[in-house]
Amino acid sequence: MPSYDYRCNNCGRTFALFFKSIKDYDPAAAQTCPHCQSTDVARRIKKVAIPKQGRDLTHLSSGEMLNVFNSGDSKEVGKMFQQVTDTTGVDAGSTYNEATQRLLKGESMDSVEKDLSSRPGASTGDSD
Ligand SMILES: [Zn+2]
Repeated sequence: MPSYDYRCNNCGRTFALFFKSIKDYDPAAAQTCPHCQSTDVARRIKKVAIPKQGRDLTHLSSGEMLNVFNSGDSKEVGKMFQQVTDTTGVDAGSTYNEATQRLLKGESMDSVEKDLSSRPGASTGDSD
């Protein structure tokens, strides 16, 4: 489960927010400090470590996977997606597979996500 670390600028405490999936994470949404309910919170960006090429991306910790997402490097994200499906042998669905291919070509994550999520029937990850 992806989690994001925040620091409250009001009370100075740190806290983590959890999201069911990457798709549930809305960077534009205001986050609230659970301690003082302030919305003056800042996401703590950890140092981004991009796995070296050839590294097995399927054994990354959730934090490391987040670093790949946070890096904004579409090709790395695409590789991660691809290795996950290759390893698990699960057909993640045509939308997922298309997203993987487009990311591998270097298309931006934002662009791929907007395009695919706007399609009717796309989204839940249910197999068809
Ligand atoms: Zn606070």
